[in-house]
Amino acid sequence: APPVDWARVRADFPLLERTVHGKPLVYFDNANTGQKPAAVIEAVDGYYRHFNANVSRAVHQLGSEATEAYEGARKRLARFLNVRADELVLCSGTTFAINLVAYSWALPRLKAGDTILVSRMEHHANIVPWQLVAERTGATIRVAEIHEDGTLDREALARAMTPDVKLFAIAHVSNLLGTVNPVRELCREARRRGIVTVVDGSQAVPHRPVDLQAIGCDFYAFTGHKMCGPTGTGALWARREHLEAMPPFLGGGEMIREVSFDGTVFNDPPHRFEAGTPNIAGFVGLSTAVDYLDAIGMASIEAREADLLAYLTTALDAEPGVRILGRAPDKAAVVSFLVDGAHAHDLATLLDLEGVAVRSGQHCAHPLLQFYGVAATCRASPAFYNTHAEIDAFIAALRKVRRLLG
Ligand code: PMP
Repeated sequence: APPVDWARVRADFPLLERTVHGKPLVYFDNANTGQKPAAVIEAVDGYYRHFNANVSRAVHQLGSEATEAYEGARKRLARFLNVRADELVLCSGTTFAINLVAYSWALPRLKAGDTILVSRMEHHANIVPWQLVAERTGATIRVAEIHEDGTLDREALARAMTPDVKLFAIAHVSNLLGTVNPVRELCREARRRGIVTVVDGSQAVPHRPVDLQAIGCDFYAFTGHKMCGPTGTGALWARREHLEAMPPFLGGGEMIREVSFDGTVFNDPPHRFEAGTPNIAGFVGLSTAVDYLDAIGMASIEAREADLLAYLTTALDAEPGVRILGRAPDKAAVVSFLVDGAHAHDLATLLDLEGVAVRSGQHCAHPLLQFYGVAATCRASPAFYNTHAEIDAFIAALRKVRRLLG
């Protein structure tokens, strides 16, 4: 691939031009949500200006244009992830996608004596739905533990995959540690034992090439707003055989074929799981976001972010009293850190005054912080459109803030 002009890429993101508290913005909260290129903003704007209508319900021209755009987005996402379009349920994001698996797949199947295996490094979105299912079915939650460096304990995992385990929930990439889990191997291990796998791809799809057929999981959830798309978009990919066997989650329009008071015939998947008017504008934007990412190339994005991660890690390691959580050999550009004598929230608040946006707190991963015995971290998560100069500015701001905090 030809080299990417990253300065030109950065110029595609209008928001990055702004200042915060009189300082140039350094946006390092991409693991939380990403910024949008002008092309995506314009696509959403163009939808409302030129072909806003509801999908699948009208024979008029606007209705068919809107439907084509919405179904086109499904096809575009499917091509991006190397799967069939009719295996992609479009929804509001990872949280909805995992809840759909919990309520439509797990709830009718699990019973007392069954076990749900969940890794220590999951986001609450891949923990709490399973707890709700466990509560209602009598199934038990088991934790797949990690090593100090933030990698999965593979030996413990193999031991934990006992015959009572029916489901294994695992992040492709940890939102707090950046650990990239070898999901292909993990899913193979699980499948060999008849365990169904649910992979949370929220932090993977935006940052590296993802081929869902190659991974070989049963379910894969992701969110659009972290991959240059609008908020309130995302999808669940599932093997067709699962989708066919799953009852609807929400009832309403669009998910039915025929309704009478004697009974209702449900639509085929994926529409069976898409009750109500969907986020059409959002998916028009997400489709454009995928075009945008593909034009740069996911392999180039991965390499660029690996370079920024190495630069950021080296810089933070050179600061006395700074400790980084998570040292996985395969790691995405997410750096959680602690600073001696400074609370994470104080640091983030003062960094904000310097124009630097980092997240502080528990990052929706309480059990993971409990493992490390810390109350909160700061997290800097650069994206491909960030620069080495911004990392320098961040380090300078950090030094200044630490002086202020004494
Ligand atoms: N899982 C992971 C690993 C995440 O990082 C996030 C977003 N912070 C989610 C799930 C939830 O995604 P959403 O809020 O878009 O549903």
